[in-house]
Amino acid sequence: MSLPASAWSHRFAGLGPTFFTELQPTPLPSPHWVGRSAAVARELGLDASFLEQTDTLEALAGNAPLPGMRPLASVYSGHQFGHWAGQLGDGRAILLGELTGPHGALEVQLKGAGLTPYSRMGDGRAVLRSSIREFLCSEAMHALGIPTSRALCVIGSPAPVRREEIETAAVVTRVAPSFIRFGHFEHFSHTGQHDELRTLADFVIDQFYPACRELDGNPYSALLEVVSARTAELVAQWQAVGFCHGVMNTDNMSILGLTIDYGPFQFLDAFNPGHVCNHSDTGGRYAYNRQPNIAYWNLFALAQALLPLMDDQQQAMDALEPYKALMPAALQRRMNAKLGLVDVQDGDSTLTEDLMKLMAQDAVDFTIFWRRLSHAAAGPLEPVRDLFLQREAFDAWTVRWRERLQARPGFDADTTRAQMLRINPHVVLRNHLGELAIQRAKAGDFSELARLQNALEHPYEELPGQEDLAGFPPEWAGQIEISCSS
Ligand code: AMP
Ligand code: MG
Repeated sequence: MSLPASAWSHRFAGLGPTFFTELQPTPLPSPHWVGRSAAVARELGLDASFLEQTDTLEALAGNAPLPGMRPLASVYSGHQFGHWAGQLGDGRAILLGELTGPHGALEVQLKGAGLTPYSRMGDGRAVLRSSIREFLCSEAMHALGIPTSRALCVIGSPAPVRREEIETAAVVTRVAPSFIRFGHFEHFSHTGQHDELRTLADFVIDQFYPACRELDGNPYSALLEVVSARTAELVAQWQAVGFCHGVMNTDNMSILGLTIDYGPFQFLDAFNPGHVCNHSDTGGRYAYNRQPNIAYWNLFALAQALLPLMDDQQQAMDALEPYKALMPAALQRRMNAKLGLVDVQDGDSTLTEDLMKLMAQDAVDFTIFWRRLSHAAAGPLEPVRDLFLQREAFDAWTVRWRERLQARPGFDADTTRAQMLRINPHVVLRNHLGELAIQRAKAGDFSELARLQNALEHPYEELPGQEDLAGFPPEWAGQIEISCSS
């Protein structure tokens, strides 16, 4: 299938040159396929043969653009680890344009495609290890129903890249309706470019949030409010599945409420509310249990950036206010669903908090606990009970849980179990699973990556031959150090 030049559109480029620099990707020697997603190809309106072709491989390696692509790197700024970092930008990401699939237009971006004017001290490259992690996690999150950028493919190369040690280069082709970040708004606000700030906000409203203009009142405060609501839902989903992002800087926050910029992320193994997955985050700013408040901090930074477009400061504060109730409500709804409860009642937050305390005290494996609890909704409790050291305390909790479940009119154990099994995944991308696939891929064998990808694409299914992907992490999993180095 050859793609006509007219298949590509370029709405972001239409914003004008203040927003980006046009440039070509840096060629990558001897590219080869590492991982591919047929599902993402379909989302782009492409058929699977697109990912079989040499000219696709060369184009997505950055060697020979396809007709109709218009590569560019965008400029943004942001707060990193709580401090204003000034100008950042796509230091190693290059937007190729948009393709339109069955669900609308999607931007196609290369990550690791070489130096840009925004690379600062970096080399513009990404290593195979982190590219595989981004690829797998994007697809895993999507399958879990969590808003995320997607990943079309990973392309590897023997080209050396210096990190703590010498590794090899790779490029991820990633896909999202937009990669605009909070940091894009901060950039134009902090540099006093308020016309551009308005242009950007209008662009985002027109493309993605047209309802903001239909309401009475200031469309930009409406934008802030809707972004806050999306972010609240996103973070609630992260918390409910035990996902730690790792680098929630404002330049990594999507204006569409998507999970973006996968770096030192982690799915929790043993439950530890204060878990810090990023080895570089020595202060623990982005610990698991801090994510909801950090998201609010980031929304506050976005609000400050949007102030020049608002009537007064109060308007911005009013737009942020709903987050404080929406986030906990969204989280409670999701925790209740994990418990098999279809509604939220008084006392449910205590039921959940008491459980989380027990899980934390006994460092219970997060994913295995919820999966076993799902089965226990219509079966024996022993397999769940076995996860705890303080069994009496857990028994007392289960009495409350079962009472609450069975109080529901028309309660049916089998139905509840089936519902819980659709919400509590069997397989998540644990660090050690990624690590095993990466080690094999480094040796030139991509079969483990494909097997893991397939399991992550069906996270609620207990497929035969995949028991090892759903088990406890091995001892060495705790020693894996994931840092910002990628
Ligand atoms: P991150 O927090 O990892 O998303 O990255 C923060 C900023 O550093 C972004 O502007 C990135 O584009 C840039 N960056 C990260 N790694 C590199 C690299 N190897 N080369 C160039 N820029 C990079
Ligand atoms: Mg980033």
